[in-house]
Amino acid sequence: MAANFVIPTKMKAWVYREHGDVANVLGLDPELKVPELQEGQVLVKVLAAALNPIDTARVKGVIKLPGFSLPAVPGYDLAGVVVKVGREVKELKVGDEVYGFMFHAKKDGTLAEYAAVEESFLALKPKKLRFGEAASLPLVIQTAYGGLERAGLSHGKSLLVLGGAGGVGTLIIQLAKEVFGASRVAATSSTGKLELLKSLGADLAIDYTKVNFEDLPEKFDVVYDTVGEIERAAKAVKPGGSIVTIVKQNKTLPPPAFFFAVTSNRSTLEKLKPFLESGKVKPVIDPKNPFPFSQVIEAFSYLQTRRATGKLVIHPV
Ligand code: NDP
Repeated sequence: MAANFVIPTKMKAWVYREHGDVANVLGLDPELKVPELQEGQVLVKVLAAALNPIDTARVKGVIKLPGFSLPAVPGYDLAGVVVKVGREVKELKVGDEVYGFMFHAKKDGTLAEYAAVEESFLALKPKKLRFGEAASLPLVIQTAYGGLERAGLSHGKSLLVLGGAGGVGTLIIQLAKEVFGASRVAATSSTGKLELLKSLGADLAIDYTKVNFEDLPEKFDVVYDTVGEIERAAKAVKPGGSIVTIVKQNKTLPPPAFFFAVTSNRSTLEKLKPFLESGKVKPVIDPKNPFPFSQVIEAFSYLQTRRATGKLVIHPV
């Protein structure tokens, strides 16, 4: 029998009422209205959330989605428990432990006690993962997977990852080896993170403070750029290879580079579930974690240093 949850009308949530620097405009509202459900949505009691660079861009107003309005709650990633389902929800039920990211997060995001999320964005949480670990994954693992797929990485090919220690990069390395069967993976980071890259499966860890990767004699079938170094990437790819970048740049991309933008789809999470359950692919969470819900501003300020290793998780919410 499905569990019954008492759902309050008000909740704690981080809210911004104007655009600006996170520390100036984001505040904890103790009494925000719990979001109303659309027919295809479920209401999730958020137990953990995670931050992404796009959250900062949204608060600052650098990125505005159609239909967006203020005040708004930031946050894309979440893990939690379904406490209510909309009329057209077919697969999820009250009590399910889920994770995913809110692709159309226009107004109400995941830095709140409750979030109304499209059923199609959510998958059942792998049992092996704790809620904080699960919340760290959805946006970055789908970005890593989708970019590698679009770039045509396949068994026996080689890959260079620019930015191997970030939220996306740590997953790209693991998926390339474990899921796509890359023969050789190289990745860049600063000196202190080289061992991490190797522990994730990188065959070659390149210290970008000492070596220019584009000057190496070795060239790669695929280059995955997570830092915005596309001209340099073009010098590191083999003839006939491909370059995927996820960093928006106001310039024409040199061929064969293309921009990839992630979309939220439970089927990718379902496809990757066996790798998460077996531990072949693992969440990578910065040692400063987790940040409790009261310390969201501190977590954002660390995110903005662009030095975090893997993900920043907000837990417990
Ligand atoms: P993170 O904040 O997690 O990245 C931080 C990491 O970047 C640090 O570990 C740092 O390592 C590394 N880094 C910074 N500069 C360099 C450099 N020059 N060379 C190598 N490593 C570097 O970011 P994410 O991984 O979450 O996101 C990466 C980018 O991708 C962001 O710009 C984000 O907005 C974008 N993105 C785009 C998506 C899309 O769909 N298009 C989806 C997701 C993200 P070190 O300290 O060693 O330098």
